[in-house]
Amino acid sequence: MKKKIYYIFLILLLTTTIYCMVHNALLEKRLLAYHDKSEALADSLVLLRLENTSLKEDVETLKENQSLHITAQSDNPTLLSALSTMTNLARFIPDFVPLQSSYAVSKEFNSNHQSIDLSASKGTKIFSAGAGIVIACYEDKNLGNVILIDHLNSYKTLYAHLDQFRVSVNTFVEKGQEVGSVGNTGNSTNPHLHFQIYFGNDPVEPNSIMKIAKYKN
Ligand SMILES: [Zn+2]
Repeated sequence: MKKKIYYIFLILLLTTTIYCMVHNALLEKRLLAYHDKSEALADSLVLLRLENTSLKEDVETLKENQSLHITAQSDNPTLLSALSTMTNLARFIPDFVPLQSSYAVSKEFNSNHQSIDLSASKGTKIFSAGAGIVIACYEDKNLGNVILIDHLNSYKTLYAHLDQFRVSVNTFVEKGQEVGSVGNTGNSTNPHLHFQIYFGNDPVEPNSIMKIAKYKN
């Protein structure tokens, strides 16, 4: 009986030992697997961190580029200078109708009369068609009181039969600046403005660069 118990005990002990050994081996295997996984995770974490840094850098670069782009658009000296030059050039183009109050076209531009006559009451204000320099201010037997403006771009404008001069020779005038008043001086039968545009030495039809209505009230 004692021997039997001893054997049972021995078998139990052996079984337990084998079970423990197998279990231990399994646990070790699992642990190794976890260890490997953990290392792999650590590696991917490092990679993610690196990627994150690189993304942050990309965002910074994009932000910088955007601000550079905005600066370039609002502060491009070449564009601004070109714009200012264009605005300046436009000032000197004689396209401003010299009479702004009521008038009537009394003589059109044609081969015998290479200018336009605008009939208006005496004293009506006359404005410069464009910016430029008054290069002549004189009294002519036929044209009466005359003003000649050089627009410094091959264009010149002439205003004749004036009653009064409002500018003098060698002065700079702006587009739309008052230069004189309508009169009946020289060879004229009624108060009117004889208005002529030249490009170089060639007369230009005023309606090719400005819109002169036949009548204006
Ligand atoms: Zn005329």
